[in-house]
Amino acid sequence: MNMRLHNSLSRSVEPIIPHDASHLRMYVCGPTVYARPHIGNARSAVVYDQLYRTLKTAYPRVTYARNITDVDDKINAAATERGITIQALTQEVTAQFHEDMAALSCLKPDIEPKATEHISGMIAMIQNLIARGHAYAAEGHVLFAVDSDAQYGSLARRSVDDMIAGARVEVAPYKKNPADFVLWKPAAPTDDASSRFASPWGEGRPGWHIECSVMATQHLGESFDIHGGGADLMFPHHENECAQSRCAHPHASYAKYWVHNGFLTVNGEKMSKSLGNFITVHDLLSRGIKGEAIRLALLSARYNEPLDWTDKLLSDAEKTLDKLYRIVGDVAPAKDLPDCITAPLYDNLNTPKAIAVLQSEMVTRDASVLKACGNLLGVLNHTADSWFKGAAADDSAWIEAAIARRAEAKKNRDFASADTIRAELSAKGIALEDTPSGTIWKKVV
Ligand code: AMP
Ligand code: ZN
Repeated sequence: MNMRLHNSLSRSVEPIIPHDASHLRMYVCGPTVYARPHIGNARSAVVYDQLYRTLKTAYPRVTYARNITDVDDKINAAATERGITIQALTQEVTAQFHEDMAALSCLKPDIEPKATEHISGMIAMIQNLIARGHAYAAEGHVLFAVDSDAQYGSLARRSVDDMIAGARVEVAPYKKNPADFVLWKPAAPTDDASSRFASPWGEGRPGWHIECSVMATQHLGESFDIHGGGADLMFPHHENECAQSRCAHPHASYAKYWVHNGFLTVNGEKMSKSLGNFITVHDLLSRGIKGEAIRLALLSARYNEPLDWTDKLLSDAEKTLDKLYRIVGDVAPAKDLPDCITAPLYDNLNTPKAIAVLQSEMVTRDASVLKACGNLLGVLNHTADSWFKGAAADDSAWIEAAIARRAEAKKNRDFASADTIRAELSAKGIALEDTPSGTIWKKVV
């Protein structure tokens, strides 16, 4: 079964046919590790995790590489501001990124290359581009000459003039064309040793675009299948990756399918550091919001459409999961996935439809099938007990005892005592719900 996805190159939904039928290879632009991830970054990570999980059910072998950008201007600026070394900052933020994405049930990519560990490959690729007449050295920089690539602009579908007008291209005296972009730049006097690398053009560091071209090619080959990232990366980042890679490896095709996730917005505005409207995953988790609820909320819109973040999105997701956990209890997942859950996912990763299927499957109440479907969406990974009770599971003995006392009081028609017990529990953040099969409790935020 081939999955179908929207390919930004053709602007249409296409069947995904890998170069090698036995091995599909996907590269995704990962985080720039200068600050703890916000939920916009998390949307990108969750979307590609969902794509990875789905591809694994449809293709015999899938390799997923997602890089860590650990050399970048924003990192240097943040390290200077905090008065710590660049390496200390990137190690700290990488660990936070891993912790937060694990809380959202994101699987580890098969390969997680770091830019700083691929510098020699970047230097070699830049030398290759210079030798082929696609790049030139000037004042400690090396620039890619956009005029040397007849196909430049074909992914973003813009002319070079539009690109110069529309993007914040840096006009600099050493550039032959203002749209030429940096492959290598000289070190700034304030840069510490962990972001200075020796090169034939002097000490410096690579440009962002060449990092991804080299890491993708080194780990997945000169021609691979899917390349993903946020919609903001289509231009200039992905356009420039394409240009460098096709010029350095003219007989290869670099990525066959380009996939872009839509933006997460708050009140219709892009969530970003500069607008000051960002919420980190860590903030939400420390407020007691569960990772699976955040994940389900992030999957509630189609991956390539915008998603406006609201508190209601989260509370709806939490309610849906409460209902599901009540049905699945602690059953083992069914071995086979029903077509009703894979079909919408194979159709351009239609997660809202898959979530709707999950909700309608609740009616059939086949708990093990439901659990398998939920697991494919990266949820229902906990036991019902730990879902409802969380850290309070340790307190379950006295809570159960209080519930038993309340039941006894109700039996004796002592409703005042029963209400007092409920209020005492509520004050401790324990909510009771009377169901036909008895009273159940959950920890509330
Ligand atoms: P960065 O750490 O800024 O390089 O971003 C990491 C990934 O998150 C990239 O693929 C970005 O396109 C993506 N991203 C950043 N902000 C948002 C947002 N508000 N909504 C969706 N994706 C985003
Ligand atoms: Zn990239």
